Amino acid sequence: MVDAAPGALQPPAPKINLRRPDVMEAVQAQVLSHYRSGLVDRIRTQGQVGSADGLLTIKLAKEFGFCYGVERAIDLAYAARKVFPNQPIYILGEIIHNPEVNDQIRAMGIKSISGKEKNADVEDLKQGDVVIIPAFGTEVATRARLEQKGCIFVDTTCGDVMSVWKRVRQYSRDQVTSIIHGKAWHEETKATSSQTGSGHYLVVLTLAETDYVCDYILKGGSKEAFLEKFRGAYSNGFDPDIHLHAIGVANQTTMLRGETEEVQRRLKQAMAEKYGVANVKEHFRFFDTICGATQDRQDALEKLLANPLDLLLVIGGYNSSNTSHLAEMGEAKLPTFFIKNAAKLVSNRQIIHYNLHQQQEVTSENWLPQGRISVGITAGASCPNNLIEDTIRRLFALRGVEVSEVLGELA
Ligand code: SF4
Repeated sequence: MVDAAPGALQPPAPKINLRRPDVMEAVQAQVLSHYRSGLVDRIRTQGQVGSADGLLTIKLAKEFGFCYGVERAIDLAYAARKVFPNQPIYILGEIIHNPEVNDQIRAMGIKSISGKEKNADVEDLKQGDVVIIPAFGTEVATRARLEQKGCIFVDTTCGDVMSVWKRVRQYSRDQVTSIIHGKAWHEETKATSSQTGSGHYLVVLTLAETDYVCDYILKGGSKEAFLEKFRGAYSNGFDPDIHLHAIGVANQTTMLRGETEEVQRRLKQAMAEKYGVANVKEHFRFFDTICGATQDRQDALEKLLANPLDLLLVIGGYNSSNTSHLAEMGEAKLPTFFIKNAAKLVSNRQIIHYNLHQQQEVTSENWLPQGRISVGITAGASCPNNLIEDTIRRLFALRGVEVSEVLGELA
């Protein structure tokens, strides 16, 4: 393999079919051995509940853990290693937002070329090197640079993310500014923003930010203050005095449904007030782009929270957007602990968990009430079942109960 001269365009890399039956059979066996949990499967078949009489009842949400997009991304990453056993393989950032899964990917010799755990650089890559694009997708410019180098892509971008891209591209074609409800620093939102091409976008995260935009639409204000407030969250050349006349809302796929609906409602109302209800269609559009898996997990948690519970454990990576929204939903109702693995259940008295407001791990004391208790459990779309199993085992152990006493020998 030869390194490309800077800027030289390489011939497109050949398309390689990773989804060969022999490859996928081996991959699925390996993935199951890494992430499956017999215990979780068993609890599922008995109606999501495991109970040690008089001590502890655990209730699992009906939908939790790996989503279809994550399963596909992991399968493809494992398949890449099988199909290219001796070739350098790189990944743009993290395959998904789960530290344990990312450790496994690293253990397969796959190097990261962006993000916190970066251990190689885009500019180090050569023609024919294999690059995995994670489930969140990647920015247009990054992909173009790698294409220029002649890299081979293993593209695991989730179809639901690509649906959002389709929407914002359409907005740009129609000269409508995309208002993206999401986290400006999140890989998915960065990738989505880049799809606006020569069009414009503005990312809003909170309802307070949405209200600020609505106020500006209705009353105007200081352009400098606006641009300063949203620094890093809008397109080059974005001018709030010019580019808020026609807007279209899209969202990061993993936002809270209720909040996204409220963002849409407030912006639509502002446009109706400004331009008149009869003209709102010319100035405002929206598409609900929350993915089915996120929605299912939020709905299932809502149902779980309708049960009498003493506390909720939410398991997943701390940088996982969909998981943090599950934790927010829990927090609004009962004591909720967002943990990344079972080791965080330090003892009956002490738990280490992620505080969403402080954006750091904190330690809480006396988290596990005495006496008979019910604990709700859910996990984000990037959390494998084996981590859920570890947590369940740890919880029963803290109550002095062997899981097999509760769930039978299979457990
Ligand atoms: S959370 Fe939704 S958008 Fe993200 S990978 Fe899963 S299914 Fe796709």
